[in-house]
Amino acid sequence: MEKTFAIIKPDAVERNLIGKILERIEGNGFRIVAMKRVLLTLPIAQGFYHVHKERPFFKDLTEYMCTGPVVLLVFEKEGAIKAWRELMGATNPADADAGTIRKDFAIDLEKNSVHGSDARDTAAFEISYFFSQTEILS
Ligand code: GDP
Repeated sequence: MEKTFAIIKPDAVERNLIGKILERIEGNGFRIVAMKRVLLTLPIAQGFYHVHKERPFFKDLTEYMCTGPVVLLVFEKEGAIKAWRELMGATNPADADAGTIRKDFAIDLEKNSVHGSDARDTAAFEISYFFSQTEILS
């Protein structure tokens, strides 16, 4: 069973969308195996997004991720990484397909409500960045 990592971002938590997003996750056959609600610090957000550190939006993105609590999640199903990317929709909600989470809930390109790992190696890094082995209960 493949695991992926997700974040319900500050814009969605702030608008009380945790339940609606979890419903989409479970309703699409994913099993949640770890979850916590935390406030990220800037160094933690910078470490998480280190691959983007040369991008012009790095400062805005990492500061935005610390503006309020987020929900960190690990969930699993066959082909979970790709399936979650599809359910999230395109990075920019203006380009996202109908029925995706970003199309339905995101505010803009930055405040796009959810994060999802994009490959096996990033999923492994992101899961272990926030969760210890004993916090993941399949
Ligand atoms: P994702 O994998 O779909 O989340 O997209 P990326 O890995 O390309 O970007 C990471 C996150 O940075 C996105 O989810 C957005 O929150 C944010 N982001 C991406 N592109 C931009 C941009 O051009 N401007 C700003 N402000 N934020 C961006």
